[in-house]
Amino acid sequence: MKLVGIWATLSSVLSASRFTTSLPGDPLDDNVPRPVEGALWSKVLPSPVSSPSLLAFSREVADQLGLDEAGVRALLPTLAGNETNGLVPWAANYGGHQFGHWAGQLGDGRAIGLGELRGQELQLKGAGPTPYSRRGDGRAVLRSSIREFLCSEAMAHLGVPTTRALSLVVTGDRVMRDMFYDGHPELEPGAIVCRVAPSFLRFGNFELCASREDVSLLRALTEHTMATHFPELPRGDFAALLREVAERTARLLAHWQAVGFVHGVMNTDNMSMLGLTIDYGPYGWVDDFDPSWTPNTTDAQQRRYRYGNQPGIGLWNVERLGIALLPLLTNEKAGGPAGEPADVIDDAMQAYQRTYEKEASTRFCSKLALVPSPGNIELVNSLFTWLAAEETDFTLFFRSLSTLVAERPTAIPDGVFYASVPESHVREGIAWLGRWWDALPKNETQSLAVKLNATNPKYVLRNYLAQEAIDAAQSGRPEAVMELLDVMRRPFDEQPGREKYAARRPDWARTKAGCSALSCSS
Ligand code: AMP
Ligand code: MG
Repeated sequence: MKLVGIWATLSSVLSASRFTTSLPGDPLDDNVPRPVEGALWSKVLPSPVSSPSLLAFSREVADQLGLDEAGVRALLPTLAGNETNGLVPWAANYGGHQFGHWAGQLGDGRAIGLGELRGQELQLKGAGPTPYSRRGDGRAVLRSSIREFLCSEAMAHLGVPTTRALSLVVTGDRVMRDMFYDGHPELEPGAIVCRVAPSFLRFGNFELCASREDVSLLRALTEHTMATHFPELPRGDFAALLREVAERTARLLAHWQAVGFVHGVMNTDNMSMLGLTIDYGPYGWVDDFDPSWTPNTTDAQQRRYRYGNQPGIGLWNVERLGIALLPLLTNEKAGGPAGEPADVIDDAMQAYQRTYEKEASTRFCSKLALVPSPGNIELVNSLFTWLAAEETDFTLFFRSLSTLVAERPTAIPDGVFYASVPESHVREGIAWLGRWWDALPKNETQSLAVKLNATNPKYVLRNYLAQEAIDAAQSGRPEAVMELLDVMRRPFDEQPGREKYAARRPDWARTKAGCSALSCSS
């Protein structure tokens, strides 16, 4: 049944979140940056904005929440943070390992939860300062909000687990940002994305309790998490929770690798307990296949979060979660697993590695319409080497395979290289294609092509496409955002007339800010 747009506020339909009603909150309600101890969240109201307008919304997320377009529009004051009567908005308290180092308390510095609808939390990102804002202003700029809005939805349409985005509101206020931390701050339009997920819990929520040796808070949080989001796991079996999160994370990472997504900031405060992609910041999509590529300029030296390093970082992060849960694993009561706590972490890490290997080989073999076998996995690995040797478009190369199934390939498909390549490289590529073709199951030409197109997207949210939508929105054509979203709704389909959205990165975008590299400052 649809709830139509007859209400002016969300308070009549939103229930208080299970997170805030079940777990200890901050007794203080002064909204100033400070350490918050003994509490998992702080009550905080969004700060009003001057003249909000709805720039874009997701039909599918609205639908999931029981809203139609009129319903979303009627909620504009709430989605802008201007109308929260009857709600108990909150900011969550968490910490995190940032770029490999423990950073202490971080928390929702610019995200404010509103409540729950149909089992989903609604959260405004960019809704103003909270006790966790530290030196930040609690706001988000339009360009990064467009990027988060579009990518959440593009990922969901690709089938990748992710937080969702209901709406994108332009606030009418300006926000000061130094985009590249180079001493050139500028005023930019501000925006708010309403994010939607069953929970925004991160590894960092658990790490913060553990870092303060607050075992009772850690236990309360972990028990709540299991009861609310993992009801299928035996109560009190914290080792089972750790293993489950490890496996979900491994599956997520395999999926990112398979679609060419680079998160850019895999700090433990950006790792979802539910195995969702969360916190879209300086993320990017691999254009030319380069395992050492990262979109994040803040990480340009170390390249900790480069494409090829993501699976290993996922594992490192799982270990951090395991260490955070250690006090609970040590005090295991009846019903818990036998064995030493260190073994439990080890087991979870092994489960991660096993799951990742299985999932990644299945995904990459299926991108070639093959089943995983030692020979086929070797074929995938030799393809990686070949793809990385010269600038070759990752998405276009895989997509083009469906055109090659009819007969043994004698040429590299047009348009996959970014520059001219040596003849010997072309010959190697043709030899690889021949080996691949020989490995294909025969007499299935038609269905092979269909299978290949169902696993190799034609349309992904290339960095330059998102930037073009941003440029358009900032120069008076906001509908470009919804147009691009519409393309990303059907990433695996041929969409006649929309081929330009499948084009490889144009030369002008190679070094343009936003198209090739982004900073954390968004
Ligand atoms: P992120 O890199 O976006 O995951 O953010 C890392 C931490 O910085 C989180 O605690 C954020 O809430 C906080 N943060 C990022 N931007 C701002 C901002 N403009 N104002 C306040 N806090 C922020
Ligand atoms: Mg974050």
